[in-house]
Amino acid sequence: MDRIVEIEKLKLDEASEISLRPANFEDYIGQEKIKSNLNIAITAAKKRAECLDHVLFYGPPGLGKTTLAHIIATQMGANIKVTAAPMIEKSGDLAAILTNLEEGDVLFIDEIHRLSPAIEEVLYSAMEDFRLDIIIGSGPAAQTIKIDIPHFTLIGATTRAGMISAPLRDRFGMQFRLQFYTTEELAKIVKIASIKLEKECEKDASLEIARRSRGTPRIALRLLKRIRDFAEVKDEKIITKERANEGLDALGVNELGFDEMDLRYLAILGEAGKRAMGLSTIAAALSEDEGTIEDVIEPYLLANGYIEKTAKGRIMSVRAKSALGYETSPNERGLFD
Ligand code: ADP
Repeated sequence: MDRIVEIEKLKLDEASEISLRPANFEDYIGQEKIKSNLNIAITAAKKRAECLDHVLFYGPPGLGKTTLAHIIATQMGANIKVTAAPMIEKSGDLAAILTNLEEGDVLFIDEIHRLSPAIEEVLYSAMEDFRLDIIIGSGPAAQTIKIDIPHFTLIGATTRAGMISAPLRDRFGMQFRLQFYTTEELAKIVKIASIKLEKECEKDASLEIARRSRGTPRIALRLLKRIRDFAEVKDEKIITKERANEGLDALGVNELGFDEMDLRYLAILGEAGKRAMGLSTIAAALSEDEGTIEDVIEPYLLANGYIEKTAKGRIMSVRAKSALGYETSPNERGLFD
């Protein structure tokens, strides 16, 4: 199914994503705590003429982890090399990347939780001592060769902090969890992007898009670009609230920001009533893999209190039941408290 908020598949085309990507902390909206901590660390590292400590970002897709990595590199005046864990298949691949770095470079590894244990092992000494320990041969004849590599900053990004091994996690001097964005923050992001796209959003239109973007900039920008087409077709110079609503409805994004996949997910819980549903059952019913459900669908629903996780599985919260018109008992509504 073509899912407008399915984040993995909706990476905007590379060129436009880059042009909308904020280039510095001032243009990077929200995540204030992360920004101020990074700012201090960067200023201090620059004063000492050292590399920035390794940084780990975690949080659902589309919240701005890659963007932050680019901003860090810019602020440090460093080059950035970008890769993703699934592309590093052998320890030789990683060795090649590391030996090709220049002093002070930033290496960004996306989906870092997917590195194999053998490759993680190589990374440990690289992160800690800027040295590669390469084992040549096997058995009693095996030899370890040590190669010095340039000092660099590793920036790791992951959607699943829980899946990173403790030894790897501990080697990151800074670890930040990105939060979902508020409607106001997203509206600002939409407004700025709409100006860059030369089809400015009216205030109410950007707020409407923001409200329905599941707290995620990538979704907001994606929706904006689709809605811009609606305005284009009507020969309108700006994006009005009316056009935004028309576009959002046509794209199947409902008023609570739920898209079809959320609604199907919630319908499963709704039908189960008070019974908790296990992840594997939900995954089978949606024909999705469990990882996607945990990384992409559930974080937003959990953060907004629409679902609850219990030892037995997931249940729909009273909030979601009321919002979606499922029956709630007087007890659930707190009438007997
Ligand atoms: P992630 O790496 O977490 O999946 P990205 O960094 O690729 O997310 O961000 C997705 C899109 O959202 C990019 O186009 C980026 O420009 C935009 N974006 C993310 N965070 C912000 C922000 N705080 N302010 C403005 N734009 C943002």
